[in-house]
Amino acid sequence: MFSQRIDGLRPSPIRSILNVIERPGMVSFAGGLPATDALPSWSGAVPPALLQYGRSEGEPELRAAVSDSLRALGVDAPPERVMILSGSQQGIDLTAKLFVDPGTTVAVEYPTYLAALQVLRFYGAEFADIATSALERVPLGYVVPTFANPTGACMSETERDRLAETCLRTGTAVFEDDPYRELAYEPCDRTPIVARMVGGTWIYQGSFSKTFAPGLRLGYLAASEDLFEHLVAIKQATDLHSSRLSQRIVFDAITDPGWPARLAGLVSFYRSRRDAFEGSLRRHFDGLATWDTPPGGLFYWLRLQRPIDTRTLLADAIENRVAFMPGEEFSPGQPDIGTMRLNFSHASADDTERGLRTLARILARAS
Ligand code: PMP
Repeated sequence: MFSQRIDGLRPSPIRSILNVIERPGMVSFAGGLPATDALPSWSGAVPPALLQYGRSEGEPELRAAVSDSLRALGVDAPPERVMILSGSQQGIDLTAKLFVDPGTTVAVEYPTYLAALQVLRFYGAEFADIATSALERVPLGYVVPTFANPTGACMSETERDRLAETCLRTGTAVFEDDPYRELAYEPCDRTPIVARMVGGTWIYQGSFSKTFAPGLRLGYLAASEDLFEHLVAIKQATDLHSSRLSQRIVFDAITDPGWPARLAGLVSFYRSRRDAFEGSLRRHFDGLATWDTPPGGLFYWLRLQRPIDTRTLLADAIENRVAFMPGEEFSPGQPDIGTMRLNFSHASADDTERGLRTLARILARAS
């Protein structure tokens, strides 16, 4: 099931020792820790202890808070099987390292998140469509079922059930990537697929990038018992641990009594951006493209009425000060040329109107 490189991976002996040196009275000659007195104290707001090396799995308080939120979703994720990531992008890298050798098939959605394809390809993965392939010989399936990137789609309850059942039967590990779950503008079933996988092999990950601040580079994962220790060893070998300062900032934010109100405010703000975007799209793209209104997340996925390669429009668009992502970038298989991804969270309603008007004009000229 795992990649060949895993045979050569040993848990770091130093990391195991570092987990015990905080015990009272411990004299440690083990790691290369800077003297506590030598750590900078530039701000009273930063406890010096956070400037020391920390645990690979993450700060215990943050892991416990994440565990609580995952268990509320029905995911079997005690704090001991929660790991803090340096952005959820890192979870894709760790998982690829665990599963992918050159030629390993990974089942994915068509289209799917471009930077997941980038990482998986880097380790030599080949792709199969998770919706149509038999998964018997596929060790790993990567899915973004809730407000997918790039399509914004939300998998139905039936599709979630079916995928969980299939993977339990075939032994395929499910890797559920869920950074957009909180950004829900319409009701839809969002129960994680892995919550349906008792006894199965799975990884579930989320991110603080969309709900809080991407620059802190923090995400988290939980995994079934057969995978978790491997993922921790790979994390040790990758970056020792994620920023403790970032973890403290996020912990304070998500345990603040104002956090649920902040999330609700964010959702209604992005819903209104989506609605403004929808209005501009209807004004300018009628007859040029079709789309489904995304029930959540950050993206519209447009299919052009005429099969124009959207890559050829990009230079013209940028010259006219509008940027978009050609859909081809999200394609694991045959290029999906007549598609584009448009983000609706960043631009104001006025900029959206101006940008979409310009883009429609460029498209009409090329049609
Ligand atoms: N997964 C998906 C599906 C994403 O869209 C993104 C960000 N665009 C990530 C993972 C990575 O996010 P981050 O590393 O900021 O948590």
